[in-house]
Amino acid sequence: MFSLHTSPLALLGRTRDAGGMNVYVRELARELGRSGIDVDIFTRRSDPNISPIQQVSERVRLIQIEAGPVAHLPPTELFPYVSEFTCRVGHFAERARIRYDVLHTHYWLSAAAALPLARQWDVPHMTMFHTVERLKGQQYGTTSSSDAAAAIRIEQEGRIASSVDRITVSTESEGEQLRRLYGLSPCHLAVIPCGVDLSLFTPATLSTRQTARRALALDDRQPTLLSIGRLDPIKGLDLLLESLSLMETSAQLIIVGGNPDGDPELERLRACAADLGVGERVRFPGAVPQLDLRQYYHAADAVVVTSRYESFGLVAVEALASGTPVVAAAAGGLTSIVRDGVNGLLVRWRDPRAFAERLDEVLTDGALRTRLAANANASVERFGWQHIGDDVRALYSELTANAPRVAACSCF
Ligand code: UDP
Repeated sequence: MFSLHTSPLALLGRTRDAGGMNVYVRELARELGRSGIDVDIFTRRSDPNISPIQQVSERVRLIQIEAGPVAHLPPTELFPYVSEFTCRVGHFAERARIRYDVLHTHYWLSAAAALPLARQWDVPHMTMFHTVERLKGQQYGTTSSSDAAAAIRIEQEGRIASSVDRITVSTESEGEQLRRLYGLSPCHLAVIPCGVDLSLFTPATLSTRQTARRALALDDRQPTLLSIGRLDPIKGLDLLLESLSLMETSAQLIIVGGNPDGDPELERLRACAADLGVGERVRFPGAVPQLDLRQYYHAADAVVVTSRYESFGLVAVEALASGTPVVAAAAGGLTSIVRDGVNGLLVRWRDPRAFAERLDEVLTDGALRTRLAANANASVERFGWQHIGDDVRALYSELTANAPRVAACSCF
């Protein structure tokens, strides 16, 4: 597997680069390892203090390849180092005498790095974009193609889409969008959603909820809303703060993510909350290790996801697995996870008033909340890693059995 721009072992949610994709790569690799598949994950080395080769779990290694400065760089600055990364992965495999059976890449930088190797080694290459610049631009309402880094990405994503053997997407609708965008045949795409660790995220009970609320020192008289994620403008946190200020219920809001020591985005949001008169009701604990998130999900009355664009939306799935209803924007993958009135509420308008109304509804209507919570966990059982692993293994078998690969496709 390739995850060039971000290590699957990075601390999640602290920077804008480490979130759902890291979880996907790490957990999928672990699941494949458990089933007897050897997995090497290649990432760019960015920390000189971490040994270049680490054992992640049984049969899974993380291999950090030096390409460019050994320091954290944002994805927009990494394209110039892609070919160096490719060469060094090639040398590594040659020296170690390893012949990989499949290249599975994540995000466009990884796919760009793997294209020459897939040809050289004559192995199938499947990729998952996680986000696509042109779709993000359309849904985000920006045309970022004017900036040079975005223009390179758009060009490369087009090249990758037509060169790889299979593209996996997390939802049918994302597949349809990609199909139209690049003129792909349906058999070029496979829908495999992201997974959730159903042994970590389990439904709250009255007692786990009370313990969690005590541990987080929450005021029991005030209902609690929770938002978790990278502090990226795409997550729509301005809209969330504005919605909070318009609600009738005096709810408290916890925003997990970012670095409380000097993260400019966190400071901006703090100032925004103060300007809206809700500063006292919003807490910013910073990023929280995933193993500790369980108590946040258990403590909350509802989890809010106000994203402008979400290719999938793992936080919504984790919340539901924890038995907590989700109020989410009807954006991207969130519509495949949240079913309005069944396990949560969907807000169709990017309007703070619409969000405020639905948040008031879920917090004041106890019967509704109980019903949504009762359906929550069962609604995400299909996202257990074992199921996702089965789908990925089936795809690997299909790709390694079919030769020539893309030419074998007959559904145009
Ligand atoms: N996450 C975390 N700690 C944080 C913030 C986020 O562990 O402080 C994890 C969260 O549990 C989820 C992932 O990061 O698994 C975010 O995934 P999502 O799909 O919601 O958003 P993305 O980062 O892909 O935009």
